[in-house]
Amino acid sequence: MKLDILAFGAHPDDVELGCAATIAKEISLGKKVGIVDLTRGELGTRGSAELRDKEAANAAGILGVTVRENLGFADGFFKNDKEHQLEIIKMIRKYQPEIVLCNAIDDRHIDHPKGSQLVSDACFLSGLLKIATELDGAQQEKWRPKQVYHYIQWKNIEPDFVIDVTGFMDKKISSVMVYSSQFFNPKSSEPETPITSKNFTDSIEYRAKDLGRLIGVDYAEGFTSERYVAIENFSKLI
Ligand SMILES: [Zn+2]
Repeated sequence: MKLDILAFGAHPDDVELGCAATIAKEISLGKKVGIVDLTRGELGTRGSAELRDKEAANAAGILGVTVRENLGFADGFFKNDKEHQLEIIKMIRKYQPEIVLCNAIDDRHIDHPKGSQLVSDACFLSGLLKIATELDGAQQEKWRPKQVYHYIQWKNIEPDFVIDVTGFMDKKISSVMVYSSQFFNPKSSEPETPITSKNFTDSIEYRAKDLGRLIGVDYAEGFTSERYVAIENFSKLI
């Protein structure tokens, strides 16, 4: 099954926090989008892996993604090595996305930059003919996504480009808040963490609003790219 966009996140909820509005917008334009979570977020202070599985499935339903998979890597301890790269390559070759979205290049949680580099490296390696991978007993074809972009999560990273997501913030916020075990919840008796504050929940909207302000729209999401972002002509620029 070929997808247009494949979004990777170290933990279930990373994709929602980083780029859910962009995903919702692309789906509304007829694009096929999938999500691959690297871990089940089992080290999260609140909730459990089982609960995160359910929350992730609900968020996928809200966004309308075609598929969501979880690679079951070890939360906090997965590595950017051959073993993990091959698992990512299998996903890239399985879904043959034109665009890959992945974690922030730098962030508070150590898994985010690690996952970011792991996915970026795998996108390159996936295009090499002599790296053989098999899925369900069948040999896979090489595939290199045309673009790899990194979303922005906890830290304020200066984006290389921003996407107007006006009209899609409600979907983003719904997809984030479905992770009720993770974010601001005055009824929770579990320990507080940096992401359970009301300020953090509010930041999802106020960051998008601020990025939107800077480009003259209501809301925007920012991305970075390891190479130049190329445009064919000026007509699609806002
Ligand atoms: Zn995370």
